Amino acid sequence: MTKSVLILPGDGIGPEITAEAVKILNKLVETDGLDISMEEDLVGGAAYDVHGVPLADATMEKAHQADAVLLGAVGGYKWESLDISVRPEKGLLRLRKEMGLFANLRPAVLYPQLASASTLKPEIVAGLDILIVRELTGGIYFGQPRGIRVLDNGERQGYNTYVYSESEVKRIAHVAFQAAMKRNKKLTSVDKANVLEVTEMWREVVEEVAKEYPEVEVKHMYVDNAAMQLVLNPKQFDVMVTGNMFGDILSDEASMLTGSIGMLASASLDENNKGMYEPSHGSAPDIAGQNKANPLATILSAAMMLRYSLGREDLAVKIEEAISKVLDQGLRTGDIWSEGCTQVTCSE
Ligand code: ATP
Ligand code: MG
Repeated sequence: MTKSVLILPGDGIGPEITAEAVKILNKLVETDGLDISMEEDLVGGAAYDVHGVPLADATMEKAHQADAVLLGAVGGYKWESLDISVRPEKGLLRLRKEMGLFANLRPAVLYPQLASASTLKPEIVAGLDILIVRELTGGIYFGQPRGIRVLDNGERQGYNTYVYSESEVKRIAHVAFQAAMKRNKKLTSVDKANVLEVTEMWREVVEEVAKEYPEVEVKHMYVDNAAMQLVLNPKQFDVMVTGNMFGDILSDEASMLTGSIGMLASASLDENNKGMYEPSHGSAPDIAGQNKANPLATILSAAMMLRYSLGREDLAVKIEEAISKVLDQGLRTGDIWSEGCTQVTCSE
């Protein structure tokens, strides 16, 4: 059955980079029997300029109807002074929230051709290929009660609540185990079970879910140690699963091991593997409209879309191999360019 993809280019370099991903999807429709229909719509500042809101209700409805959403990026100087309620980023948050995208998958893959761009020594990162699975709609980011209150002595006190229910942990654990099954069957669950009860329970639930995946080798690690191990010996990891805040921090840390932000894809999935796919970087207004941006993070996000939402793992692999070939040929946009390589534009 034909699957539908909603394309939301957004702002800044968004339209340039999504156009390149769309070219590749169209090519796969032509040559590989990819059965999709694509429709484009507005999000972010681009939507605000037309509708006065960063995401029109009609666009939200299209996102609900679609099998997957491919997004560029939102935001830019032009909209920075707007009221917070209509800022471009609100469009993105609404999509994540209303689509129920609780699983954020962020691969940190080092292409061997870019080893010198990593912050770590080549021998430590060579062959690095980690998938971080971050819970995106729970944990301390959303727990109640929260706020800042004034105590009797007049002092202010800030407080947040770190909560996870068993079902929330279970569903993210399943996503992680399923990803591990498709990869090297190794999973590290990251918690702070020695100090925080919520993560003590997290660990127990992950252990329970593990029984359904006997082939997967499971390890538990405290978050402080995981942060250290990521820069000491990152290749010990394959899939990592963790809560919202630990995942936020660890995935940014891991991304820096791979060189440029222009190479990093992401997927945010709901219970039925419906998802939104976007590069990890922002709208890069400083280089927008110059045909200079690196489109690979978006193209890799389209590959993730084929893998997770469109049932075409074969085509995801095909895209990833094609990117490797392009890098082998020494073709680089400015952000990943180095001596001896050929600088190319976004569209090239
Ligand atoms: P956001 O807050 O939306 O996450 P940001 O403002 O922190 O984003 P980006 O928009 O990601 O940051 O840009 C950070 C820097 O990285 C900029 O100098 C930008 O030009 C550069 N950059 C981001 N994406 C790309 C890309 N695809 N290709 C080349 N350079 C990029
Ligand atoms: Mg930005």
